[in-house]
Amino acid sequence: MRTMTRVGTVYLVGAGPGDPDLLTLRAARLLGEATLVVHDGLVDRAVLAMAHPDAELISVAKSRARHTLPQHEINALLVREALAGRDVVRLKGGDPFVFGRGGEEAEACRAAGVPVEVVPGISAAMGAAAAAQIPLTHRDSASVVTFVAGQCKGLSEQDWSGLAGKGRTLVIYMGVKTAPQIAEKLMADGLAPDMPLAVVENAARAEMRVLRGPLAALPELVVRERVKSPALIIIGEVTAREDVALTRFVLEARA
Ligand code: SAH
Repeated sequence: MRTMTRVGTVYLVGAGPGDPDLLTLRAARLLGEATLVVHDGLVDRAVLAMAHPDAELISVAKSRARHTLPQHEINALLVREALAGRDVVRLKGGDPFVFGRGGEEAEACRAAGVPVEVVPGISAAMGAAAAAQIPLTHRDSASVVTFVAGQCKGLSEQDWSGLAGKGRTLVIYMGVKTAPQIAEKLMADGLAPDMPLAVVENAARAEMRVLRGPLAALPELVVRERVKSPALIIIGEVTAREDVALTRFVLEARA
């Protein structure tokens, strides 16, 4: 008689923006019980420290000039381990389904007959908004909020018209390197050069910085302040409300 091998489950777990206190209880429990944790570079060390002491930790992060493990190899790793009978905690910064490629990993698992569970996390937009005390919506300033990816690939083809402006908040992930193209693109779409914005670097981490300025000054701000990834760009009137401007993190940027 053939013995049935148990198939493990892949848990796609959101690790939030940094502070371990921002993990869900479910994420913390799964991490504490895990025997195998596959994580990317955005996951804060303090969060990794919550893993079971005997857990095997595999990083699929960028290291020096080497590129991230290609996505298909990450998918293959998850599937291989699960088919061998191990439960896998796949830990991702923020939320697994917001610019986290969680969808691709879930598809690969399902295609291989591996059960998947998704544990949501606090996405960088929520983490940054809370930490910098910038409301993403506000009855007086914004009734729409949009998340976009600002990375080079396809930036010029993306249609952002109407996403930013009066009464709207635009949150840009992965936009540090492309800040000049982003400012240019938005102004070409008709956004006022003096539309206020905030750059939130290392949100929900000890080294967080919040920088503010008008849209036209974004490229200069990023260079002058040596803004590094991870950082979010939040564009809209919510970033310049008087009470927000008084938060102690704020540094003014002048055009
Ligand atoms: N799944 C993640 C996003 C991954 S894309 C999430 O839901 O948050 C990576 C981008 O997220 C970074 O380039 C940056 O724009 C943003 N990001 C992630 N963590 C951040 C943090 N602590 N502070 C500011 N931005 C962050």
